[in-house]
Amino acid sequence: MTVRRVERSSVYRPEPLMEENPARRENRAAGWHRFHIGDHEATVVSDGRLRPGPPEQQFPEVPKEAIFEILRKNFLPTDGLIMEQNCLVLRTARDVVLFDSGIGVDKEFGCDESGRMADNMRAAGIDPREITSVVLTHAHCDHCWGLTDATGERNFPNAEICIARGEYEFWTDERRLSEGGFQATFIAGARRSLLPYRDRLRFVSDEAEVVPGITAVSSPGHSFAHTSYIISSDGYDALLVGDVVHSTALLFENPDWGFSYDFDPILAAKTRRRILDRAVSEDLTLIGFHFPYPGVGRVRREGEAFAYVPAPIVHK
Ligand SMILES: [Zn+2]
Repeated sequence: MTVRRVERSSVYRPEPLMEENPARRENRAAGWHRFHIGDHEATVVSDGRLRPGPPEQQFPEVPKEAIFEILRKNFLPTDGLIMEQNCLVLRTARDVVLFDSGIGVDKEFGCDESGRMADNMRAAGIDPREITSVVLTHAHCDHCWGLTDATGERNFPNAEICIARGEYEFWTDERRLSEGGFQATFIAGARRSLLPYRDRLRFVSDEAEVVPGITAVSSPGHSFAHTSYIISSDGYDALLVGDVVHSTALLFENPDWGFSYDFDPILAAKTRRRILDRAVSEDLTLIGFHFPYPGVGRVRREGEAFAYVPAPIVHK
């Protein structure tokens, strides 16, 4: 009998296998996560990650070492913030509501890891034509530029857009294009994304119902008329905060820090404390657009500040 020597490489070849598997090659993060808020089916659909650059540039009033110390104790890199884009699709008895669109195909403020909403929606079994309302927290690039595709066509052809009137008027005002800087780029992008829906706009107002089960909560500061939303069903309540708080590592512990893209950093900090206080006292689940994926968790008071606790992911 001849014993045939088995070459190690013939039974264990990790590199060629990885090459053959595009999902491994692209190092993709998980794309969607489903849970329930009472009777509503909720699906977080990711538009991928953003990398907004060095953290010290994002918080210009804060000493660099103070930022780095917190990032290090949270085991996060100090050379660049990572921000997820957790878009929520809520299926109620009557509506299919998308909260914020993600940045879409743009690569100036986006990156190779963003622009994944369409693929992830398909993977989650959601047809963009099913969306009846897109409810916006605000009109910054990462929240509304995904409303249209590269050719300017609507990605959600059957949806109305729900947004605060002040926010819509601020970001679509062409007279302010001449102001330059990131504001001008944001205005051009908001006009490109929102104007194709101009005949199907509905303005939301503070503490008023947007659609059954969803109530607007005015939360200005990060942007001119930023709005958060309470989602309620069968005694369960969640608070979709938008960008009232984005870095869970930095801003729960330091709710008074100003962020470089805040419209009014002092008002943003005041609003952050008011909204987080409400979440604690009303025992609300938080859904955060930029929180670590999938962005669902709770908040507790910690001294004069707050602490974020991600919700466990339940596998059924
Ligand atoms: Zn944002």
